[in-house]
Amino acid sequence: MKFVTQTKKNNELSSYSVANNGAMHTAPGGGKSFVGEFHNISVDKLAGGLPAQLDNRPSDKDHLANTEHTNSGHNVASVPGTALQRTLKNSIGCTGIGLHSGSDVNLMLRPAPSGTGIVFRRTDISGDAGDVLADVHNVVDAMLGTTIGNASGATVATIEHLMAALRGAGIDNLLIELDGPEIPIMDGSAAPFLFLIECTGTVAQNAPRRAIEVLKPVKVTDGNKSAEISPAPGFSLGFEIDFESATIGKQDMEIQLVNGNFKDILSRARTFGFTHEVEQLRALGLARGGSLDNAIVISSEGVLNEEGLRFNDEFVRHKILDSVGDLYLAGAPLIGHFHGVRSGHALNHMLLKKLLSDSSAWRYSIQTASSDRHISQTIVGHSMDVSAAIA
Ligand SMILES: [Zn+2]
Repeated sequence: MKFVTQTKKNNELSSYSVANNGAMHTAPGGGKSFVGEFHNISVDKLAGGLPAQLDNRPSDKDHLANTEHTNSGHNVASVPGTALQRTLKNSIGCTGIGLHSGSDVNLMLRPAPSGTGIVFRRTDISGDAGDVLADVHNVVDAMLGTTIGNASGATVATIEHLMAALRGAGIDNLLIELDGPEIPIMDGSAAPFLFLIECTGTVAQNAPRRAIEVLKPVKVTDGNKSAEISPAPGFSLGFEIDFESATIGKQDMEIQLVNGNFKDILSRARTFGFTHEVEQLRALGLARGGSLDNAIVISSEGVLNEEGLRFNDEFVRHKILDSVGDLYLAGAPLIGHFHGVRSGHALNHMLLKKLLSDSSAWRYSIQTASSDRHISQTIVGHSMDVSAAIA
């Protein structure tokens, strides 16, 4: 069984590599797909649920809306067209290095029962003390990425790219085991995590998916940075960046996340940094695992990575990818439009907390299977020709 799985995996690794070097996604010089070692194990469903302490999300009693798709008193799971919660079909894992620690981390994604949400479990910490629910109220640091923690002091850093992959793949429930304090950085994007998810596939669960529907605009600002969320059908994001570096400059993009387009448009966009920042971080004992294998590094001369960029506007795409991951810390998929201007993790979290703290600004609603499909145009208002950008 393991051998068969391994063979299938290797085939998919090959096709993944082809996709990376093919016409659709060519970066000059081809380029590495990702670092890390993949392994698959047999089905291992999480048994017995999770500790009660993890269920600290906002109470849904006041917020569960019966939309036009569901009528009061219905068993919502049986309503035709209702989208169901999803988890992984089987457990699957990988090994990679932590961006800041530079140490190897073993990561395992395991199916979890409906209603669990996304739970991180530090296997190097015994018992419940190592469990941290992916919830914006559990964020303990957002300086260099998103770190969440629990009351026992256990923390999990750099969760945002994995969270983005889970949102992009429509996974509601998952147990994420890791044997260290940081999610492996892999290639600096969400693609390796999405690849793991695709290798094993997802399965619908017997419970309706509950979304957080934005009812009125909420905005936070910090100097010339801002983040706003407003009512909209489906989930869409816009982002504007304006860097002094001519390599990045001004970039903006708007995208409607539908029909799994996260994979092609966002998942492969890598994190980025400047050489002087990398030197500062190293002096502080951080970014020890950072390299050209897991980030775009920019000097005054331009992009240092031999393979160049994966997209002309890879930087703004990565900022949107980060926002997808940050916003999934709401504990459920958002229905609304996000717009960020030079925003980052801290401001995104602030926005989410402000939204969730105002009960008139949102409500839970049951998603229908068709709610992501009624919009045929997948990208709106892009500042450049998207087909050219992807090619
Ligand atoms: Zn990022």
